[in-house]
Amino acid sequence: MFDNLSDKLDKALHVLKGHGQITEINVAETLKEVRRALLDADVNFKIAKEFTNRVKEKALGQNVLTNLQPGQLMVKIVKDELTELMGGEAEEIDLTGNPSVILMSGLQGSGKTTFSGKLANYLNNKKSKKPLLVACDVYRPAAIDQLHVVGEQIGVEVFSDRENNDPVSIAKSGIAYAKTIGCNVVIIDTAGRLAVDEQMMNEIANIHKAITPQETLFVVDSMTGQDAVNTAKAFNDILNFDGVILTKLDGDTRGGAAISIKSVVDKPIKFIGTGEKMEAIDVFYPSRMADRILG
Ligand code: GDP
Repeated sequence: MFDNLSDKLDKALHVLKGHGQITEINVAETLKEVRRALLDADVNFKIAKEFTNRVKEKALGQNVLTNLQPGQLMVKIVKDELTELMGGEAEEIDLTGNPSVILMSGLQGSGKTTFSGKLANYLNNKKSKKPLLVACDVYRPAAIDQLHVVGEQIGVEVFSDRENNDPVSIAKSGIAYAKTIGCNVVIIDTAGRLAVDEQMMNEIANIHKAITPQETLFVVDSMTGQDAVNTAKAFNDILNFDGVILTKLDGDTRGGAAISIKSVVDKPIKFIGTGEKMEAIDVFYPSRMADRILG
């Protein structure tokens, strides 16, 4: 993953690595290449431009031109800035409620149901957590079935109510049920549509308002490039969500979404999905991701 971006950034920085002595022109040219690599990877134009400006300022501030190892210093500056751009530190989810309610949002196909299962499994493996999954997609019976299959696979109970077509009431009943069986985390999977539309937004906004979750997570397919950023913005405008889940990072993604989303909505990426299996979940560490991108 990120091969494209890694190769390009590596090439851009390689020019500098070879130089014992570099000039301002070398730096400018390298930064231009870095910017091009970011744009090619679907990073938003403004963000790429601001990024290279910051790198330039830092490079000059740290006297890269007179440094004994200017190439290495530049690589370090680019890495640090990239880490910062993706959020700096890893951010955990808030599990302080009893139960802690986690609301999943996102488009259909983004990987919400799969991630709900992965998160439930991840938490279930922690001694002190007992999760419950709640199926709130009232439009697609297959989605409810899918969550039940996932729940069975990981040994986590799933609450659903096929007779009820009101997702707000299902979510509330799910939380009430969790309390009766001693679950301390409730993960609510919701209906998504193929594109942002008013009905979906109203529905998720209503659920959000009715249950005031500890964590509202926005799930997004990292393969969707700039669309991922636009969708994130639309959901954040409505939900002011707490974190982003970036799925399908195992695929042929160009990685730009990871870089752009944080800066556009100013919300941390909390987890990543790296495959279809229930174990394919990782906490998002900005510095590890920067390492991966820079190779
Ligand atoms: P939902 O409509 O948002 O609930 O999306 P689903 O959870 O049903 O996922 C849509 C498709 O993406 C399914 O085929 C999943 O197996 C697949 N998927 C979900 N997460 C990942 C991931 O991290 N990597 C890969 N390769 N596939 C994923």
